[in-house]
Amino acid sequence: MHDVLVIGGGNAALCAALMAREAGAGVLLLESSPREWRGGNSQHTRNLRCMHDAPQDVLVEAYREEEFWQDLLKVTGGNTSEELARLVIRASSSCRPWMRRHGVRFQPSLAGTLHLSRTNAFFMGGGKALVNAYYRSAQALGVELRYDTPVDSLELRDGRFVAALSGNQRFEARACVLACGGFESNREWLREAWGRNERGEWPADNFLIRGTRFNQGVLLRHMMAQGADIIGDPTQAHCVAIDARAPLYDGGIVTRVDAVSLGVMVNREGRRFYDEGEDFWPKRYAIWGRLVAMQPGQVGYCIIDSKAIGRFMPPVFPGVKSDTLPELARALALPDHEFMKTLNAYNAACRVGTFDHTVLDDCRTEGVAPPKTHWARPIDTPPFYGYALKPGITFTYLGLKTDARARVYFGAEPSPNLFVAGEMMAGNVLGQGYTAGVGMSIGTAFGRIAGTEAARAAA
Ligand SMILES: Cc1cc2nc3c(=O)[nH]c(=O)nc-3n(C[C@H](O)[C@H](O)[C@H](O)COP(=O)(O)OP(=O)(O)OC[C@H]3O[C@@H](n4cnc5c(N)ncnc54)[C@H](O)[C@@H]3O)c2cc1C
Repeated sequence: MHDVLVIGGGNAALCAALMAREAGAGVLLLESSPREWRGGNSQHTRNLRCMHDAPQDVLVEAYREEEFWQDLLKVTGGNTSEELARLVIRASSSCRPWMRRHGVRFQPSLAGTLHLSRTNAFFMGGGKALVNAYYRSAQALGVELRYDTPVDSLELRDGRFVAALSGNQRFEARACVLACGGFESNREWLREAWGRNERGEWPADNFLIRGTRFNQGVLLRHMMAQGADIIGDPTQAHCVAIDARAPLYDGGIVTRVDAVSLGVMVNREGRRFYDEGEDFWPKRYAIWGRLVAMQPGQVGYCIIDSKAIGRFMPPVFPGVKSDTLPELARALALPDHEFMKTLNAYNAACRVGTFDHTVLDDCRTEGVAPPKTHWARPIDTPPFYGYALKPGITFTYLGLKTDARARVYFGAEPSPNLFVAGEMMAGNVLGQGYTAGVGMSIGTAFGRIAGTEAARAAA
């Protein structure tokens, strides 16, 4: 029998396994993917959000607890636990020396991400390098690793963990950490959660999954059936508008199209549907997945002209290019009459002041609905480009209710030896909304707590 069993193989699971091992526990980690796909969504990440009172290695200026908390409060609309959120925020200020000890390296933010240089520490080599470093360290410390081992269910006795079952294998342990992601990869569950809309469509059928295919939510569903206390709304998720040509899974960061605030977005009927210049892109990119999900066919089209080129991160797929707007509409299979009506109305409504994409500038529309409140310039300089975008689910927020010791609850009673970390409990902090880098802050903080607590429970 092992002391601590960790289920999952991404950031939260690895942090838990390393902490439990450092506390002297014998640790077994079960990951459902094969070795070459290990690391879950964590392999796609770039950075984590960190509080700091003064400049710290790769982070400039200061990003204090109160500002971080206010940022979280704003994006979640108050749908968060202040106690757990502050715990994550404080932990984010001291975790990096520990991460470095396990081989993670940081770098300052590069061109295109400079607006995050104060708040987010970037992983050198991205999330893939981070999970590889953690796996190397875990192996060196004697953590036992098993790939291709999806856990189907748990054996529980009065809220106490007894064993995990994977096919006909049974793994007993004195304590267990659940860190096996949300249910974002489970298309059936997404379909059920989003239901059918007034047009008779099943919106989730048109979603793409930005990360791993292995976060099927099997244990989340199992825990719900076992009576574990649950938190969050199944339709709440981090959801971005991504290139419609992206693969169904694992398209990662490069399928994002960051040009929306530089142009206009129309639906498949050729109509605009939201203010593209409402706020800075890093504060708004995560609302567009949901906005596109509400449109007919769950598709939107980002339209820009050559003035926008060079002002956003080049996406992996080139845009559809045309010398005239009617040609572009035809190339994108949009109704050209309605499309031109929309574009002409928008162009005529632009009141161009001093264009500056780095501030909330005074270029705006007048007399058109919806308005574009910043960076509004006529789309009039060929060549023109269009990108079809679909909702891209990053991760879901439905999860297990927990506390500052990462304990799983059954009927408001904490389990003595079952803990949870990462996406599987992120909904305690993120009831809705998102602020860049906080997923890894939550997973690192709670992964470390869960590992320590599991080792203590096992002892
Ligand atoms: C494209 C993309 C970019 C992102 N960028 C960032 C970023 O820059 N910063 C940030 O903070 N967040 C980012 N995120 C979000 C971030 O990935 C998550 O918040 C974080 O990685 C969650 O860590 P986790 O360990 O909980 O889940 P994961 O890393 O997804 O790990 C879950 C693991 O559990 C395994 N698993 C699932 N079910 C089972 C089972 N039944 N049995 C055994 N194993 C199982 C999976 O194979 C997987 O390895 C990004 C996500 C995506 C998709």
